[in-house]
Amino acid sequence: TYVVTDACIRCKYMDCVEVCPVDCFYEGDNMLVINPSECIDCGVCEPECPAEAILPDTESGLEKWLELNNTFSATWPNV
Ligand code: SF4
Repeated sequence: TYVVTDACIRCKYMDCVEVCPVDCFYEGDNMLVINPSECIDCGVCEPECPAEAILPDTESGLEKWLELNNTFSATWPNV
């Protein structure tokens, strides 16, 4: 899965949302998150993010952000 990190906070350009083929982005007040169980790992959102906030969870140190994406996508509205 891909993970949205803190570089997204107060960005919300939404370019990633436009390209996601499975609509797995969810929106809170300050940032977006990806639902890890819906993401198909296609990777098309990563280069679209102007803040470079989206990273594959295979990168190290993203455990906390993966957990937050999972938690918040369960309660925030789909976009
Ligand atoms: Fe959507 Fe693909 Fe990005 Fe996953 S990697 S959030 S499926 S665009």
